[in-house]
Amino acid sequence: MTSNTSAEWFARALHVTSGGVNSPARSFRAVGGDPPVVMARGEGPYLIDVAGQRYIDYLAAFGPLVLGHGHPRVVEAIRTQALQGTVIGTPTPSEIELAEELTASITGLDMVRLTSTGTEAVMSAIRLARAYTGRPLVVKFEGTYHGHSDAVLVKAGSGASTVGTADSLGIPTGVTGDVISLPYNDLDRLSEVMRRVGDQVACVLTEPIVGNMGIVPPEPGYLAGVKEITHAHGALLIFDEVITAFRFHYGTAAELLGVIPDLYVLGKIIGGGLPAGAYGGRRAIMEYVAPLGGMFQAGTFAGNPLSSAAGLATLRVLKEESPYARMDRLADRLATGILATADQFRIPVTLNRAGSGFTVFFGPRRVTDYETAQQADATRFARFHRLMLERGVYLAPSRFEAWFVSAQHTDAEIDRTLTAVHDAFSMLQA
Ligand code: PLP
Repeated sequence: MTSNTSAEWFARALHVTSGGVNSPARSFRAVGGDPPVVMARGEGPYLIDVAGQRYIDYLAAFGPLVLGHGHPRVVEAIRTQALQGTVIGTPTPSEIELAEELTASITGLDMVRLTSTGTEAVMSAIRLARAYTGRPLVVKFEGTYHGHSDAVLVKAGSGASTVGTADSLGIPTGVTGDVISLPYNDLDRLSEVMRRVGDQVACVLTEPIVGNMGIVPPEPGYLAGVKEITHAHGALLIFDEVITAFRFHYGTAAELLGVIPDLYVLGKIIGGGLPAGAYGGRRAIMEYVAPLGGMFQAGTFAGNPLSSAAGLATLRVLKEESPYARMDRLADRLATGILATADQFRIPVTLNRAGSGFTVFFGPRRVTDYETAQQADATRFARFHRLMLERGVYLAPSRFEAWFVSAQHTDAEIDRTLTAVHDAFSMLQA
């Protein structure tokens, strides 16, 4: 069967996969339910669909593509590694070099274990915290997303927040009973809960800068407060930096914000566009992981040579070229332009930006947590998403995601995007 358009491809997908997608975040259900665009390929800061239409890419595959698509050094590293083996099942140099680079460049990361996805890394970090402390409870925050394992799908953000319910079916109460989900940026609630059950809490898990209810930064002093309360009750602090590590600078958000956790979870950028995740932290804790210790965790594809080679090549480019100031400047231009255009058309917009990532919320209220994020206008976002798509700009199909500027974007793409925003806002107003 030959198919030429997204609609034709997607009709085929609908027959053989649930909702036509392999991850619900790719569906367009949250933005009006049209068939999603089926992309044939990526090229630098662009996506090209199956009909040959080009889009400026702000999705960045939900975060990993800090260097855009097909960076020559990353492609070359993958090619070279593929010729030597794609999965081997023994220790290999690329995974050792990646682990060395991560531990050398991240404060508080003495040892690391590579996994295949961020989901696995979070799941394992939680198990490790429970193993180390001998306690059952996990404290997390509403609207953060930590992958799709059972424990963290309690009031989660991102794709999980667009399917109508924060919790998934199929998660037994035996699991949810051990998870406490609290509002982000609210130290009082955390203190109160920890006073009651802190001696049973294994870990407090958070994204240091949230990327999954849209970008929501911590209020000044919040993370330091979280760490103090967590440690006062003998629990471990886990920062899920799957989105944030190497996104804002060569290192973690923890380092930028001056609050170092006991355990980190990493992913996305460290795989250079191939599947990857990692968790790690203080040596004394990591020594609990098998085979050194009794916390079991494994994976046929863990520390995969291709992913490690792509990740390492990406990190080397980021280190040598440090594109962060340029990416920040472009994101700032874009954000400032969006706000000025919103003002011009009297469209209430709140914009949260952290470096090269930002989220446009359609509403007048400051967004500091999941409750305020949910108040943003979903219908207006859906129309905006459609209008931008028609103008060749690809945004994540959810109001709870970020726009990511990559090292491949230039002023030309920002200019074109701002023209599209101007058009779209003029029509939103109508
Ligand atoms: N943690 C965070 C903060 C994420 O944003 C994600 C994915 O979006 C995950 C964990 C899960 O990672 P993966 O999709 O690689 O399983």
